Amino acid sequence: MKRLFCLLLLAITTIIALESCAFKNNDSVAQVDSHEHNFNEWITTLESSCTTDGKKERTCQCGEKEIAKIEATGHVFSEWTTIVEPTCTSSGKKERTCQCGEKDFCIISAEHTLIDNVCSTCSIEASKGLLFSLNENQDSYSISGIGSCDSSTIIIPSSYNGLPVTCIADSAFAYCDKISSVSFGGNVTKIGNKAFYKCYTLTRIFISNETTEIGNSAFEGCTKLSNVTIPDGVTRIGSLAFYGCIYLSDISIPNSVTRLGDYAFGYCSKLTSATLGNGVEAIEDKTFYKCSRLETVTLNENITYIGTEAFFDCSKLTNINFSNAIKSINSYAFYNCYNLEKVLLHEGLTFIGKYAFYNCEKLTKITIPDSVYTLGDNAFQDCGELKTVVLGRKLKEIGYKTFYSCSNLVEITIPSSITSIGYEAFYECRRLANVYYTGNKTEWKKITILGYNSNLTNATINYNCISEDHAE
Ligand SMILES: [Zn+2]
Ligand SMILES: [Zn+2]
Ligand SMILES: [Zn+2]
Repeated sequence: MKRLFCLLLLAITTIIALESCAFKNNDSVAQVDSHEHNFNEWITTLESSCTTDGKKERTCQCGEKEIAKIEATGHVFSEWTTIVEPTCTSSGKKERTCQCGEKDFCIISAEHTLIDNVCSTCSIEASKGLLFSLNENQDSYSISGIGSCDSSTIIIPSSYNGLPVTCIADSAFAYCDKISSVSFGGNVTKIGNKAFYKCYTLTRIFISNETTEIGNSAFEGCTKLSNVTIPDGVTRIGSLAFYGCIYLSDISIPNSVTRLGDYAFGYCSKLTSATLGNGVEAIEDKTFYKCSRLETVTLNENITYIGTEAFFDCSKLTNINFSNAIKSINSYAFYNCYNLEKVLLHEGLTFIGKYAFYNCEKLTKITIPDSVYTLGDNAFQDCGELKTVVLGRKLKEIGYKTFYSCSNLVEITIPSSITSIGYEAFYECRRLANVYYTGNKTEWKKITILGYNSNLTNATINYNCISEDHAE
């Protein structure tokens, strides 16, 4: 391995560095004295595109060059075009295109076009007998209950007493065991808290394209709900909104959603795929808690935060792609995701919470970026297939049981920034053979290594190693 030469390499580079430093010192002193750089105009050497940065440079007559980045421009999309018209009962689709060819899609929710509470397309009439309550502002109504309506297919009227019906009131249909499907009559903007809480018979819901808000626990415990389209326009999905919807198989969050509450899709045990639109910047605590069949999650490029237990027990999850924006992966975030094979962490990440990747036993390699300041206790405990670990250069501590029982761990790169290693951090790491330490022997001896770490201290410590290039 090339690392075997690291001592020699370091020796050579030190000599070169010493020599060139000496040379440079004299030289630069002379230069600073002689003139301040007088750069010509910036010249673009690499054009930026929608998604990639470009480069520019400028030169002084002395030969000094400055190179700078030109930020990627981001996509500029055309107006939306409808490519599939929605019908009363099936969703449509619209698309927009950037000049680079990138396409963006969005779903149009199926919806009746109610005029005087009769659909102008299919002639169906809005449900009768529902309860209404006048909203506070007195210019619209909410549906407040099932009333005497005996149909299992509910079509929410668009108006009542000449005023629009804009809201499904809190708990309006809670525990209602008569309804199987609900369509919204075009004016509903808000679904209240617990609006359909534990409607065990509800199988389908057609949310209006006008809807902006889905309240807390709105569909919690709707155990037969299998098909939900969240239209573009919804900005908030409340806490526990779809908690325990055990029949839900896939979900697509449109770009318009900026807040996705905690537990929003917790215990959706049949959910296999989830796609997150660009508006969401944080996966809140427990958002996908115990989604035990979740295989695919498409995170967007703006996600900065993964909450506590966000993917707890998502044991079918095989990979997760973080963007460059990610800053924080909180405690227990991927706890027991034992099929997670690949995790690529980017520079910019600063925090990894305790138990974050506990028992992710398919992980084979992990590289902690230099930007990470905190790596929580037990973070990689019981990652049984983990062979190679590279720790970032800002890390000061390896906490309690961080790599406990990583029984296949063979090599680890430890930066000289480390000052302490916690109890049992490397307990039961019996295969640990090589430690690549970026500091020297004296520095290594200064590290406080707490008990039960003999697998670490008995490994071969290679000093003065150069930390691997973190790019993959
Ligand atoms: Zn110059
Ligand atoms: Zn583009
Ligand atoms: Zn219709």
